[in-house]
Amino acid sequence: VRRVAAALVHHPVLDRGRGIVTTAITNLDLHDIARSAHSYGLSDFFVVHPIAAQRELAERVRSYWVQGSGARRIPDRSPALELLRIVPALEDAESALGGPELWTTSAVARPSSMTYAAARDRLKGDGPPVLLVFGTGWGLADSVCDRAHFRLEPIRSPRADGYNHLSVRAAAAISFDRLLSPAGD
Ligand code: SAM
Repeated sequence: VRRVAAALVHHPVLDRGRGIVTTAITNLDLHDIARSAHSYGLSDFFVVHPIAAQRELAERVRSYWVQGSGARRIPDRSPALELLRIVPALEDAESALGGPELWTTSAVARPSSMTYAAARDRLKGDGPPVLLVFGTGWGLADSVCDRAHFRLEPIRSPRADGYNHLSVRAAAAISFDRLLSPAGD
C-alpha cells in the first residue's frame, strides 16, 4: 500500500473572479481534516500558507492539542493533530515527501481526469507517495492543477442542477473514504 498524504492549499487559490489570492486559515479545517486523515491512515496533513503569522497560528493550534492543555483534556485529538505539518509552499510538502505524485481535487470537471475507481487501484500498486491536494477560496489555481500528475474527477451530485460545491472538509472526508476505505466497504 502506498503512502498517502493530504495538503490544504491557501495559496495559490482562486477568488470569485478567478484572480489568484491567499486565503486565511480556518481552525475547523485543521481539526476536521486532521481527524479524517488520521482515521483513514494518511501519513501527513500539510497546511500550506505563505504568510508566517498564519503558519504560527496553525503551529499554536497543533501544539495546544499535541502538547498543551488540550492534549490533557481531550487526548483523542493528539494523534490526529500530530499529522499537521505547516509549510510555506506546496513544493515544501512535495520535498518533505521526497517527490510524491500530485493528485488534485476540484468540484469542476477538467479534461483527462482520473476516476476514483482508477485512483483506488493505483494506490494498491507500488509507487511514490501520493499527495492529495485540496483548495480553499474558490478552488486551486490552474498553476497547481496543470502540473498535477493526476486530477481526480469531481465528486458528483445526484441533483438535476448538478450542484456539488462541498466544503473542503466534506470533500476531503469523502475522497479519503473513496480511496482508502477497507476492501469490501
Ligand atoms: N470556503 C470553502 C469551504 O467551505 O470549505 C472552501 C471551498 S474550496 C473551493 C473547496 C475545496 O474542496 C476544493 O478546492 C476541492 O479541493 C474540494 N471540493 C469541493 N467540492 C468538491 C467536489 N464536488 N469534488 C471534489 N472536490 C471538491
